[in-house]
Amino acid sequence: MTNTNYLESRGSRRALSNLLPATITLIALSISSVSGAQYHDSVERLIVHAGPEILIDKVRVIDGTGAPAMEAASLLLKDGLIVGVGPSGTLASETATVIDGTGKTVLPGYVMLHEHLVYLNPTARPQAYTTEHIPMPPLYLAAGSTTIRTGGTFDGDADLRARALIEEGRIAGPDLHITAPFIEGPGSFSYQMREMTDPEEARQFVRYWVRAGATSFKAYMNVSLAVLGAAIDEAHKLGAQVTGHLCSVSFREAAELGIDNLEHGLIDASDLAADKTEDTCPTMDAEERVRLMDVANPAVQDLIATLVQENVTVTSTLPVLAAGLHPAIPTQGAFDLLSPRSRDIAQKRWIAYLGPERAEQATLWREELRREMAFEKAFVEAGGNLVIGTDPTGWGGTIPPNSTHAALILLVEAGFTPLEAISLATLNGARFLGVEDEVGSIEVGKRANLILLDGTPDRTIADVQHVELVFKDGVAFDADALIESVRGTVGR
Ligand SMILES: [Zn+2]
Repeated sequence: MTNTNYLESRGSRRALSNLLPATITLIALSISSVSGAQYHDSVERLIVHAGPEILIDKVRVIDGTGAPAMEAASLLLKDGLIVGVGPSGTLASETATVIDGTGKTVLPGYVMLHEHLVYLNPTARPQAYTTEHIPMPPLYLAAGSTTIRTGGTFDGDADLRARALIEEGRIAGPDLHITAPFIEGPGSFSYQMREMTDPEEARQFVRYWVRAGATSFKAYMNVSLAVLGAAIDEAHKLGAQVTGHLCSVSFREAAELGIDNLEHGLIDASDLAADKTEDTCPTMDAEERVRLMDVANPAVQDLIATLVQENVTVTSTLPVLAAGLHPAIPTQGAFDLLSPRSRDIAQKRWIAYLGPERAEQATLWREELRREMAFEKAFVEAGGNLVIGTDPTGWGGTIPPNSTHAALILLVEAGFTPLEAISLATLNGARFLGVEDEVGSIEVGKRANLILLDGTPDRTIADVQHVELVFKDGVAFDADALIESVRGTVGR
């Protein structure tokens, strides 16, 4: 946190205090200083070690570059930064708080690229999402995600405010890279999305949201070529990135327009549909799609070559595809995070979803997941750039920390080594966001954004689930306390 942020946050606290009754003002202002940053009381309760100097000793270190784990290492953190990494015993400090890392491993905090701050309102008709800015950030942090990009939103202003609340130390959460509200065309599944047909409107929309603080845009399933082209052109002029969950525009068309990123992977490539016409989302039944989603299919090979050549990054979102079809997700623990009403609805839904009458469909969905995994592996082997996300959009099936850990487990099932999966979910995400000088790997001079966990995830990837502490800027948060602080409050 920079001095400027600190001053701004003090200013906004003062402004807020003018509006509140005296008793609340007292609580709002009882903030103490930790490691140079300022945290509200409710956040400070989640902090185990505040530094300013911490030595994690006798620990294994996975640095995020893909290099093998360093055994019996020590890590010195000071004033929010990593100031030393070396064999245990070689780093000394008389003033540091010492954490015994025996049996534990340190990883860089995850940098996840398709996250949301929403939950599907289970009873709203027509379908609607509610914003969940209070419970979601601590859950991401508990997972070990210290940087996330939101993957589109229904409420851009609230997402921007949530980022400010985190920076002000009022809620615990990761760094947020904000994607503006969806860029959609007519036919949206949700009335909460703006439907644009005029390229000039898209340009104005992009200018407005960049000025407001968004750094990326996400086009949605019914966007037209003309609107998407205008949005990409305007965003690039302003230094912002564009991603898409596309259908009306094919992957190849989007690549030729210069899109930076595509969400979900082959599963959403309308290029494969036989009846694809311009600006129309083709109807493809699941069976046909799964048949075509074959890395041996020349059309898929061709698409991979195009995406690599045009330097289009693909976001893997295996957790949302695997939810309910794979033992890693959702876990009972994920349901327990929901409000009683949402939990009840979600559990009934998942029981029905996985019931015997769905067996045939579930077999098809599992094959689809398997083929998406094969595509992602082949894409990376061909030189493609893959980043990782979880897409927690509701129904209780995809919620951090479970969804975050499932992402790593599923990547390993897709054929990546644990070290490769960890590197994709850390350094590679940081590179895509252009923040690799600051975060994404364990290196002297980088911010101390780290995960301390029990076990050896480079050998047993499921150990990523055993997070004990998550460090953000050298301040250690208790993962369980983060979860407890919002348990039972996700959803309405
Ligand atoms: Zn999404």
